Amino acid sequence: MQRVVVFTGAGISAESGINTFRDSGGLWEKYDISEVATPEAFARNPKLVIDFYNARRKQVLEAKPNAAHHALVKLENKFKVQIITQNIDDLHERAGSKNVMHLHGEIRKVRSTRFPELVYELDNAEQPYDTVCERGFPLRPHIVWFGEMVPLMELAVEHVASADIFIIIGTSLEVYPAASLIHYAETSVPKFYIDPNARSIEKLPELTIIREQAGTGTPALIEQLLKTE
Ligand code: NAD
Repeated sequence: MQRVVVFTGAGISAESGINTFRDSGGLWEKYDISEVATPEAFARNPKLVIDFYNARRKQVLEAKPNAAHHALVKLENKFKVQIITQNIDDLHERAGSKNVMHLHGEIRKVRSTRFPELVYELDNAEQPYDTVCERGFPLRPHIVWFGEMVPLMELAVEHVASADIFIIIGTSLEVYPAASLIHYAETSVPKFYIDPNARSIEKLPELTIIREQAGTGTPALIEQLLKTE
């Protein structure tokens, strides 16, 4: 079975009503990154950071997967599919995709500030301010903040390097190191980039740019891939 690796960003969830970061009307026009998405911010004002992620979580719980998330599930009928998402929402899982790797963490989980392996799923939208892990340390959102390491990066590189087909959807490719992943795909591998604002990418051979919304561009591409021998 051929392997398809799909690298997604905030744009794939935009049509589900979840704000992206950089588009106009995006999140960072309303918030200052350094106040809510860095380890320093959490040390300085944990309540503000917890409130910010509680609001994001509420928005995610109210959202539903869209046509792009659903189309990617169909791809599993014919290919071995690995999704690598920069998104912290769980819309790929709720659509039914089996193999989803979250490079930047998961909004529905929290973890111990002292023992990162102690990860807990939240029952509802709210992370309370005062809960602690089973070893007595405060909990934090299970998110990779700006300035932190991306623990799954190495594994993600391995997946991309082993892809037979590589699809990029809804990402500005501005957040590193995640954006560097695209350069690990083999030269001869067909690559597709679906994003209405996709810029051309230098030194990425076999790339087809599809300047469309994820909700229309993705099902169309997937139908085409499912038809080919
Ligand atoms: P980004 O905000 O930098 O870029 C969003 C991209 O999506 C842009 O290129 C834009 O043109 C494109 N886009 C907008 N609407 C689209 C649509 N309907 N279909 C296809 N593409 C569309 O987001 P990014 O590149 O993912 O990087 C920023 C960081 O934002 C990531 O690390 C991610 O963790 C985080 N983030 C996640 C969520 C989420 O979980 N849903 C939401 C906001 C931000």
